[in-house]
Amino acid sequence: MIAKAPRGTRDVLPGEVHKWLYVEDMFRKVCRNFGYGEIRTPLFEHTELFQRGVGETTDIVQKEMYTFEDRGGRSITLKPEGTAPVVRSYIDHRMYAEAQPIKLYYITPCFRYERPQSGRLRAFHQFGIEVLGSEEASVDAEVIAVAAVFFEKLGLKGLELRINSVGCPECRKEYNRKLKDYLRERLPKLCQTCNTRFDLNPLRIIDCKEEGCQKVLEDVPLMLDNLCDECSRHFDRLKQNLDLLDIEYMVDPKIVRGLDYYTKTAFEFVSKDIGAQGTVCGGGRYDGLVEECGGPDTPGIGFGLGIERLILTLESQGIDIARPENMDIYVVNIGEDAGSKALEMVYRLRVSGISAECDHLNRSLRAQMKYADKMNARYTLVLGDEEIKNGSGYLKDMRTGEELKVALDVGEIRETILQKKGRN
Ligand code: ATP
Ligand code: MG
Repeated sequence: MIAKAPRGTRDVLPGEVHKWLYVEDMFRKVCRNFGYGEIRTPLFEHTELFQRGVGETTDIVQKEMYTFEDRGGRSITLKPEGTAPVVRSYIDHRMYAEAQPIKLYYITPCFRYERPQSGRLRAFHQFGIEVLGSEEASVDAEVIAVAAVFFEKLGLKGLELRINSVGCPECRKEYNRKLKDYLRERLPKLCQTCNTRFDLNPLRIIDCKEEGCQKVLEDVPLMLDNLCDECSRHFDRLKQNLDLLDIEYMVDPKIVRGLDYYTKTAFEFVSKDIGAQGTVCGGGRYDGLVEECGGPDTPGIGFGLGIERLILTLESQGIDIARPENMDIYVVNIGEDAGSKALEMVYRLRVSGISAECDHLNRSLRAQMKYADKMNARYTLVLGDEEIKNGSGYLKDMRTGEELKVALDVGEIRETILQKKGRN
């Protein structure tokens, strides 16, 4: 039991970590080009932040949070998502007093107590961005563009962008009445969860995945048909801006985020290649959130992008991320003198900035060569009595088989490797 990872968690092992480094690096590059700065917030926050900032009626707060009391008797919750902590930090550090908008990105672990399945873990990771301080639809398009460009740079195909508008508290008041009138008489035909949502969060009923419910909801009144002038204009501008940036989208009036502080734009990027958990990225505008969390009335918008689902999509599309060379040089050594010489040489090479390895198990020449190959070493150098006596040996290029005579001198070996690497 103690040597088994907890349910819903997984290790990223050295053999696959290059995929993570690659997507992280690409995400950072794209964010930098779009003018975002990185923010790192703690792994835990006061429970109340998520109760307020994610919302009491959401699945996350009702049943998915890792909440515990610390030794000082405070209620603490492990980050289930990235937006509320960023909003907390924005208020905490009075970023609203700086030049707006504030554009931030993050890479973070998240924790949710869910039923583990493919693409759904209890400890998972997200890329995310948030823009605070502008209500313009140009920002909505820009936020969506960050995700679109990121996917494009990774070579991902066929991720479908779906957009919607969930209105604002103004237009939603009237709409909620219509929605509830429609739902009230159909409640007996809706599932248990939908029934519990009727009073607190009726909008969420619309995206229920139950087939029976979807049938009942076929001609449900949609927020999109009931937007006020301002929200309607905002949505039109968003679509114009996406057209301007050549970003393809489809309007899906059933994407919802049913809380008062989620406003206007809601969007998702969905992959068809990874099964039921296909939403790789989800985001939207939250013009009421900063105020809800105790800050000044400030508009905001952002997205969260699941890294595990992203990597699953990359793998399912056969996108190969080259494994970097692990080792510049493997020094093969035979005999006791050679052993000491190799130890010293490898150490000095490492200190001088060359990645190097040697044998620590008294393996045969053949076994060491095999090991060097497995370690993905670019060069090998065999050290035996003969080489030590002559003060020289052969640097072998493991890709081409080419051999080059070198003095057993760390400076010379280093220069040779750097020169040859520079040529590739
Ligand atoms: P879902 O519809 O899958 O439950 P969600 O609406 O709860 O997703 P968000 O809160 O919008 O998701 O989180 C943003 C992204 O984080 C998701 O689109 C998904 O890629 C990823 N994500 C969410 N929950 C998990 C999880 N339990 N395991 C892995 N990735 C997740
Ligand atoms: Mg969820």
